[in-house]
Amino acid sequence: MPELTREQAEKRLQELRHQIEHHNYLYYVLNQPEISDAEYDVLMRELLELEERFPNLRTPDSPSVRVGAPPLDAFGTHTHRQPMLSLDNAFGADELRAFDQRIKRFLGMPLSQPVEYVAELKIDGLAISLTYVDGVFVTGATRGDGLQGEDVTQNLRTIHAIPLRLRQPVAEASPSLIDEPTVRLPSFVEVRGEVYLTHDEFRRINEEREQTGEPTFANPRNAAAGSVRQLDPRVTAKRRLSLFAYGLGAMEGANFETHWQILQTLKAWGFPVNPHARICGSVEEVVALCEEWTARRQELNYDVDGVVVKVNSLLMQADLGYVQRSPRWAVAYKFPAQQARTRIVEVRWQVGRTGALTPVAIMEPVEVGGVTVSRATLHNEDEIARKGVMVGDEVVIQRAGDVIPEVVSVVEEARDGDEVPIVRPQTCPECGAPVEKPEGEAVARCVNLACPAQIVERIRHFTSRNAMNIEGFGDRWVQKLFEEGLIRDPSDLYYLKKEHLLPLERMGDKLAENLLNSVERSKQVPLSRFIYALGIRHVGERAGQLLAEYLASLDALMNASEEQLQQIPEIGPATAREVVEFFQREENRHVIRKMLEAGVTPIAERQKRSDAFAGLTFVFTGALQRFTREQAEALVRQLGGKASGSVSKQTSYVVVGESPGAKYQRAVQLGVPVLSEEEFLKMVEEAG
Ligand code: NAD
Repeated sequence: MPELTREQAEKRLQELRHQIEHHNYLYYVLNQPEISDAEYDVLMRELLELEERFPNLRTPDSPSVRVGAPPLDAFGTHTHRQPMLSLDNAFGADELRAFDQRIKRFLGMPLSQPVEYVAELKIDGLAISLTYVDGVFVTGATRGDGLQGEDVTQNLRTIHAIPLRLRQPVAEASPSLIDEPTVRLPSFVEVRGEVYLTHDEFRRINEEREQTGEPTFANPRNAAAGSVRQLDPRVTAKRRLSLFAYGLGAMEGANFETHWQILQTLKAWGFPVNPHARICGSVEEVVALCEEWTARRQELNYDVDGVVVKVNSLLMQADLGYVQRSPRWAVAYKFPAQQARTRIVEVRWQVGRTGALTPVAIMEPVEVGGVTVSRATLHNEDEIARKGVMVGDEVVIQRAGDVIPEVVSVVEEARDGDEVPIVRPQTCPECGAPVEKPEGEAVARCVNLACPAQIVERIRHFTSRNAMNIEGFGDRWVQKLFEEGLIRDPSDLYYLKKEHLLPLERMGDKLAENLLNSVERSKQVPLSRFIYALGIRHVGERAGQLLAEYLASLDALMNASEEQLQQIPEIGPATAREVVEFFQREENRHVIRKMLEAGVTPIAERQKRSDAFAGLTFVFTGALQRFTREQAEALVRQLGGKASGSVSKQTSYVVVGESPGAKYQRAVQLGVPVLSEEEFLKMVEEAG
């Protein structure tokens, strides 16, 4: 860093604080960061270094001493009994070794004596704190500014990985072994963990948002944070969020000696704990593990941004204590950024199955995190405008987990004036039909249903895992069969013969047989998947399930009116319209007829049994004994009722299981009738 005068340092510090505050707000409050984490870390590092060199210029409100951002007013505020702090960062092996030395010096240990650590993957999600009183989940909150977070209890209750009641660890676990969980449940405990989304679920959500014209999430972290920090628990419930627990906050009535013991206990209480945590006998073992995960992180189905290293002994942790915003006994090793610079040669507009045009940057090939990349998504026109990207620009690209590479920012200094603005084509690059951008939607679409690109994408969707699950077709064969004129729509798959396939390049006898076998196997299919596979706009997996559950047959669905469809809970007017329009089109009816003639048999799973609960809304609280919450809610829907996540005056009944939560109190306050599980079952039996 160049030598700065005090005045220059003061000015730069002001700038940095201002910029970091801005990015904190975008990241922690809006879940919409503008810069990558690696770029943020560079700014923060410069701030810390400058404050170190000019201690007199430190301010009490600098982002270097504060964690996150204050809670939003929209939520209730929750005060953490023990603050939720941030972690100091270590970039590279030498900084890990420096951390180890600092610890030994602080504790007055000989530098040659090894310290025992626990190394855990640093999950890139949203930090939360779960409070349990006498083993029962009472409050869940975000980290907020570390002292106070947002009360998101109702949303967190919808996450299946969060136990509503702690499991009692088995008594025979010998208390003499410190690795065994303590047997008693604490009377009060704050469990700390990270809520995250798997890559599969992230893709599913974005696919669904693309279909409904909503802007897609930039990465799994933003999607997870956005799903927890929103006001409708039903939205959270639809996103299959996951959790890893990794520590404890305040606690009464239990004692531990090591962090490892805490992790084992969390597991015994019923929390998912990341399986890759390891005890390391020395800092060199930690370094080896961090290097191993730098190379292996792509194997995981969730994003990790580093390895958290914690001193294992809790006595040592207590001696080490805390500095302002982080514990002295832990450090976050950050993986080297998977970023690189390259030049955009061209922008192609890719046409998806719903006709959506997505801009893709074609770039000079460059290596990022061990993989050569030559294409990156630019998301949509709004994103292009926001980042100011032009063809010919030098750009920073990054890979986040195994999610497709994206353009992060433009290197403006590298411009020479020859850059050309990116303009969306007025006609479809695949078929020449007009492109339309409906008002209020972020995405432009090709209007031609017979557009070859859309057809290929629709067939791909039809064969995909969560749809008809026709294995082996992948991207390549669908494209090839289409180009050869062998398939024009999904029903053609069921008329393929071996002699059609064998002449194709790279096709062998065995492969042809495998493909035909998987087509054959797909014929018996749950109705819900078949509906999803048709690729009707707005009909994702969830809508497929609801339509199958309520209408119980393909025939009924094909003939349903908009009004009928809108009676189904969660099916809105836009979806109802799309469904009706889809089945009105003769070409769609023809494709379905062809499939049925070829032997495709959609099987209705559970059927709606009657309308006995029509007009009634049920809310469930507490642990049910006879069925899961989902099963109980499905029962209500099968009988024509609605299941809701929150109690209001409109609620007809609150069904109370074991250790009910705040919903029970609310029901009593509002005078909503309360049913026991038995009473509810009786109603169901009488109705069905
Ligand atoms: P941090 O993310 O570096 O570390 C603390 C967090 O690690 C904890 O709160 C917890 O949520 C998480 N964590 C995950 N696994 C863990 C485990 N096994 N044990 C303990 N903790 C675990 O610190 P921070 O203060 O939350 O955020 C700073 C970081 O956030 C930056 O380094 C940057 O990556 C990112 N950030 C980015 C922007 C941006 O604009 N892109 C803005 C602000 C922050």
